[in-house]
Amino acid sequence: MSCSGGLTDACPLGLAGESSTLMLTLLNTLLAAKCSFPGPEAFPKNVATTLQDGDRYDMIVVGAGSSGAVVANRLSENPHWKVLLLEAGGYPNSDTQIPNLYFGVHGTDKNWLYVLEKVNTSCKGYVNGQCNWIGGKLLGGTSTTNTMLYVRGFAQDYDGWANSGNKGWSWAEVMPYFLKSENVTWEKYFNNPFHSRGGLLTTSYQRSDFNVRNILIEAAKEMGYPIINDYEHLGLLETLMTVQDGRRESTAFAFLSEIKTRPNLHIATDAHVGKVVFDRHRRVKGITVRIQNKTLNIHTKGEVIISGGAIQSPQLLLNSGIGPKSHLKDFEVRNIVNLPGVGENLQDHLATFLLLVQLDGAAEAGLKSRLDSTYQYYTTNTGHYTSVGVTNLVYFLNTKNRSAEFPNLQIHFMEYRMNDDFLLPNMLTGMGFSQKAGKIVMDANKDSVLFTLALTLLYPDSRGKVQLGSKDPYANPKVFSGYLTDMTEADIDILLDGVRFAQKMLNTTIFQKFNGKFIRYPTISCDGHEYDSDDFWRCYFRDYCGGIYHPAGTCKMGPKSDPEAVVDERLRVYGVKGLRVADCSIMPKIVGGNTLAPAVMIGEKVADMIKEDWNVQRDALPKYTGRY
Ligand SMILES: Cc1cc2nc3c(=O)[nH]c(=O)nc-3n(C[C@H](O)[C@H](O)[C@H](O)COP(=O)(O)OP(=O)(O)OC[C@H]3O[C@@H](n4cnc5c(N)ncnc54)[C@H](O)[C@@H]3O)c2cc1C
Repeated sequence: MSCSGGLTDACPLGLAGESSTLMLTLLNTLLAAKCSFPGPEAFPKNVATTLQDGDRYDMIVVGAGSSGAVVANRLSENPHWKVLLLEAGGYPNSDTQIPNLYFGVHGTDKNWLYVLEKVNTSCKGYVNGQCNWIGGKLLGGTSTTNTMLYVRGFAQDYDGWANSGNKGWSWAEVMPYFLKSENVTWEKYFNNPFHSRGGLLTTSYQRSDFNVRNILIEAAKEMGYPIINDYEHLGLLETLMTVQDGRRESTAFAFLSEIKTRPNLHIATDAHVGKVVFDRHRRVKGITVRIQNKTLNIHTKGEVIISGGAIQSPQLLLNSGIGPKSHLKDFEVRNIVNLPGVGENLQDHLATFLLLVQLDGAAEAGLKSRLDSTYQYYTTNTGHYTSVGVTNLVYFLNTKNRSAEFPNLQIHFMEYRMNDDFLLPNMLTGMGFSQKAGKIVMDANKDSVLFTLALTLLYPDSRGKVQLGSKDPYANPKVFSGYLTDMTEADIDILLDGVRFAQKMLNTTIFQKFNGKFIRYPTISCDGHEYDSDDFWRCYFRDYCGGIYHPAGTCKMGPKSDPEAVVDERLRVYGVKGLRVADCSIMPKIVGGNTLAPAVMIGEKVADMIKEDWNVQRDALPKYTGRY
């Protein structure tokens, strides 16, 4: 890297002397740091343009995301299997690797953007009354574009899956797969039965440098809530993050760059799979994929594993003729298996992402300027840019019974420095917040630190669905979030409890010191209610709730007796042979925590089951000796 004449021209005093040498050394150091971010060469080579119509693989994995990258890695451990991994998006870049830039990636081609169908039960305060959902469209999938909290959910979640007829999925049985992947680097979890070292996915401790962190911890103590470890259930938790040496640890880095020269794994990027193809015995034959406007048929001797995520996996099944007969008829898709559950049972962790708190400017004390933070990041891989803005502090609460064993509400916090010209505007537009309300928030941010209080329903009763929206297999499907359609209003009750909890928190001594208060902005339908009455908030949630992008459940795992089940306990699609689904879509019920760690576990487990079914050698699993 060298300075060209351009810099000399721009420097009227010239570039001679010791001071200039220092300056050039500094610039070189920064440029070298920027160039140290790996590009496509860090991953397996893209074979997309060399694929031929009729090529044959032993195993085909669709979607190189949070689960799919794991599946491809583990299956290709068997040198006798030729494995093809197909991904609709491209490669990660330095923007996706610097944790703090993650919001900037959201409006780009590295994300799928789904505009949810308009309903009158939720999202009324967003542009056109519609919420947006995003999800990663590149190697690593959403693990390359998410906020990187590493949380597994609770024993009751997996025991619940097992108790509803899914043998092998209890907490004790899935824990070895969590342990298999993990390489924990936070000392406090060394020698802890709940964590392990030496796996491919690094989890680490990233402490936020915002003062909000200390304020939250002090307030929790004043309110009598404990600071907990991640194997405990109720209190304020500092989570692990999927970050390694200050850079994002996506499943692409953890599971694909590790094996970039493995000869029996082929990866094709910008390769959008349109459908799965079957022979007349309903055995999988292969897939059709669109690469640079050409459609190719790729065959398999073994299996196809769909890991397209909870929106695209059901869409791919529907495109392939697997789903509710009458719905497929509407789109002239030949029905191969009448499976009414495909696309149903959609769940997401509904949240009040737009509930913003204002703290006076003093709350910013000690925070480095953006320029200093940038310098620190590029020279040492530490500091502000290693975190996403969402703090790694989350509350797990049971709002109905403080001494219950498990929570019903999680609270996420996202921090914005004073006059934030990056995260805040990107968040407001990315989420589709109305311009009028957005302006009030931006004005409040001029002299105040802000943070978002995302009251997050862990177990929403409401359900949505994914359906085909057109005959074009490559067009986005229709997504109905189902937010707050539950007629008992149980979901809303818990959110209301959450607001009251937040108000108690804002009344603690430490929050009062910084004049902590909610920002008020106009609502679409609630201004007729007295501000802060229960009715006001009930209405407010319907205007301003959105999701935190954890879609799950649309290819539900369940026993044959379950009319909504799409896959069995070995994740095989009912009614056909040689096809499995492995990603968040298989969750019968969404877990009570963030969904990346479970997606990785699902990838590990399905790969092991496939090897077992084909009598291929498997590694011994770590033993889980914990009791939590
Ligand atoms: C903004 C955001 C923040 C989040 N924060 C967190 C967090 O902090 N912690 C956490 O645990 N979870 C978080 N999540 C959720 C979590 O990341 C996801 O639930 C999880 O990564 C989903 O994994 P998956 O394997 O089901 O799907 P994905 O990781 O989305 O993988 C699907 C892959 O399949 C590809 N694909 C889809 N269809 C096709 C096709 N037809 N042909 C070829 N390829 C296809 C996609 O491009 C993608 O790469 C967040 C999500 C978002 C969007």
